[in-house]
Amino acid sequence: MTKLLRSWVESANSAETPFPLNNLPYGVFSTGGGAPRCGTAIGDQVLDLAAMEADGKLSFDGTLQTGSWNAFMGSGKANWSKLRETLTDMLGDGGDESLATYLVPLAEAELHMPFAVSEYTDFYAGKHHAFNVGTMFRGPENALPPNWLHIPIGYNGRASSVVLSGTEVIRPNGQLKGPDDEMPRFGPSQRFDIELEMGAVVGTPSNGPISVAEAFENIFGYVLLNDWSARDIQAWEYMPLGPFQAKATATTISPWIVTAAALEPFRTSTPEREKPLLDYLTEPGPMLYDIDLSVTIRPEGGAETVLTNTNLNVMYYSAAQQLAHHTTSGCPMRVGDLLGSGTISGPTKESRGSLLELSWGGKEPITLEGGETRKFIEDGDTLTLKGAARGAGFQVGFGDCVGQIKPARPL
Ligand code: MN
Repeated sequence: MTKLLRSWVESANSAETPFPLNNLPYGVFSTGGGAPRCGTAIGDQVLDLAAMEADGKLSFDGTLQTGSWNAFMGSGKANWSKLRETLTDMLGDGGDESLATYLVPLAEAELHMPFAVSEYTDFYAGKHHAFNVGTMFRGPENALPPNWLHIPIGYNGRASSVVLSGTEVIRPNGQLKGPDDEMPRFGPSQRFDIELEMGAVVGTPSNGPISVAEAFENIFGYVLLNDWSARDIQAWEYMPLGPFQAKATATTISPWIVTAAALEPFRTSTPEREKPLLDYLTEPGPMLYDIDLSVTIRPEGGAETVLTNTNLNVMYYSAAQQLAHHTTSGCPMRVGDLLGSGTISGPTKESRGSLLELSWGGKEPITLEGGETRKFIEDGDTLTLKGAARGAGFQVGFGDCVGQIKPARPL
């Protein structure tokens, strides 16, 4: 296991910071209502990369001054390595302490979307999640669809609905119909839910089929992703084409892109195959990551309760497999394409990544720290996703992925 890389930014050397020198995640920030700028988080500071490039301390063809990471991602992998190596040298022990003038306390920085989401696809790669949901929707005999062990199932989502952590989420209205109702009715979703996911950010475009190995190389980095889901709308609308309005309200992402380079020491293999995969989906090496994940809920004015603890390493398909599969049709992938992993549920009840599973479809309400119970999300609740890969004495963290639910708009 890699050791902590020490930095002259002292707060970056703490075992608790999500942003040691090993991480160097990329985000976009502003201060005092100014223009959004590219930066990297280091300890409790953000280094203003846009200002450094403007002053000639970095040279990346102006891509760091665009207020988004898309242009830099599109400038190619050689630049990805060059910037990471340059920053590691500059910020490391014995580096350039005069750059302290470019540090801004994170507490004073307003964070913005780190990249423009060009397209958004959401997958369904968690076997425990697929089995649990299938059991509730179709019964245990038909829980896993017949294709599931052979193909990474997904649907095309809405890039327009992807929002930054901290953005309020308004409860959706939609068509609702319980199993015993004769007719559907229109109203606010009564079964609004989270999905704990990891989002992969495509940094190298492609136009035509690519291999799993190429797909792995084309992924720039990862963000935590909450695929807010209206279960009652979903149950009525999904046959035969899958999710539509149930998933179009909002998808929240964490503010920092944690690069594939930073996660390199934490690579791990997908679980053992239950059925052999077709050749084009076979992984040439470990392409999943060992990342601890958790979800908390906090009612308005109340205490926080941990809902789940799990790990990305339970996923049956990696993002590289999903991306390779996505391109087999010839589907072009763009810089800023976002791929949701699917809900990350572990094998135990305590490691389930959605309230649908945690409350077993609302049949087993969860008791919170303050004594309240929840089947699904109530207005005013704040849901927070956290994630970190853990090394010896340091962690590569993601920064929280937070959303508070507001009441539905009047009809
Ligand atoms: Mn999802």
